[in-house]
Amino acid sequence: TIQTDMSVFEQLESEVRSYCRSFPTIFTKAKGYKLWDTQGNEFIDFFAGAGALNYGHNDPHIKQKLLDYIADDGIVHSLDMATSAKERFLERFHEVILKPRGLDYKVMFPGPTGTNTVESALKLARKITGRETVISFTNAFHGMTLGSLSITGNSFKRHGAGVPLNHSVSMPFDNYFDDELDSVTLLERYLEDKGSGLDLPAAIILETVQGEGGINVARFEWLKRIEEVCRRFDILLIIDDVQVGCGRTGPFFSFEPAGIEPDIVCLSKSIGAYGLPLALTLIKPQYDKWAPGEHNGTFRGHNLAFIAATEALRYWETDEFAKETQRKGEKVHQFLKQLVEKYPQLRGEVRGRGLMQGLAVEVEGLADQICKAAFKRGLIMETSGPDSEVVKVMPPLIIDDEGLEKGLSILEKSIQEAIK
Ligand code: PMP
Repeated sequence: TIQTDMSVFEQLESEVRSYCRSFPTIFTKAKGYKLWDTQGNEFIDFFAGAGALNYGHNDPHIKQKLLDYIADDGIVHSLDMATSAKERFLERFHEVILKPRGLDYKVMFPGPTGTNTVESALKLARKITGRETVISFTNAFHGMTLGSLSITGNSFKRHGAGVPLNHSVSMPFDNYFDDELDSVTLLERYLEDKGSGLDLPAAIILETVQGEGGINVARFEWLKRIEEVCRRFDILLIIDDVQVGCGRTGPFFSFEPAGIEPDIVCLSKSIGAYGLPLALTLIKPQYDKWAPGEHNGTFRGHNLAFIAATEALRYWETDEFAKETQRKGEKVHQFLKQLVEKYPQLRGEVRGRGLMQGLAVEVEGLADQICKAAFKRGLIMETSGPDSEVVKVMPPLIIDDEGLEKGLSILEKSIQEAIK
């Protein structure tokens, strides 16, 4: 097991300390799916910045493009100016991502992070429809600013906002109830019935696989039915692909296999490719109703992020990347299922799609203990879910089979240690 030195942190009085409870060491280098700390310990990354590092750490091609751009004195900060880096990104995003999928969206840069794209989507939906309410789902996570927090289905996180905003309604996500209750029918009845107290909403927002909420997977047919409800009641459909987008579940957009076409799509995390902050709001052309200057911000669309993001699109020139993610995801899924059978003490359940996999364990505190044991053996993992009951398995998508197997074997040893 690994020895770490936390003496520096122990002297520090900063918020940095709170993060070190999960990963108590000081990291210094990273490459691909590996990280190293100041003591020279090596770690395997099964966390990938919660989906921000789908292409791994320090991808050599992206790094080279960034170095070239900087060496050339490429413009870095440009605010309201058009730049060649931005133009090139938009061109390539259209060519490689939108056009082959037959998707027609205008691209907006709402601010640097995931919560900014969600805020812009909420604002735009309310502006377009003139309605106030937004429907989100149980266990949803959409960000930490006031608007996105008000549609987050986690009361602990919402309490951090004091009194959360009104105008948001949380409905049951797919499979939220263990019994036969059908959440789409419930939603439809609420919308139809004046007595439900539910105002006609501006939008419905959802993640196709809830990341922070515990790797809850919406079935494709459920998504299709939600889309039908949106069309029937003239409600905008917003898909938050901040964590599951950019190939986490296989396809570039998580919703592609469901055959739905959201009105607005939120992208961030891995779109910045090199861990650089970038967020995109994709808007159906007829809904691009912003007046100039109505939604602004100093760090919208950073040029270094554009350089990185453009280079990362090369992963999407063929189907190979998505197929490989699906293959590796299936491998993880099967391995976790076999663990659940082998260790009935876990009272475990495996959920996930692509390389967004979760091992839900019903024993209180056990998921945390597994992650702590894993860290000591050089594997970085986090928990999610309302009671931190789910061990998330989210390696960078570029991980090879050797890394995957090594990580999974550490996970098994950590489980053995935690249930002892
Ligand atoms: N939406 C989803 C689905 C997320 O997982 C997150 C971040 N975990 C966000 C929005 C917010 O992104 P950020 O932390 O970059 O603001």
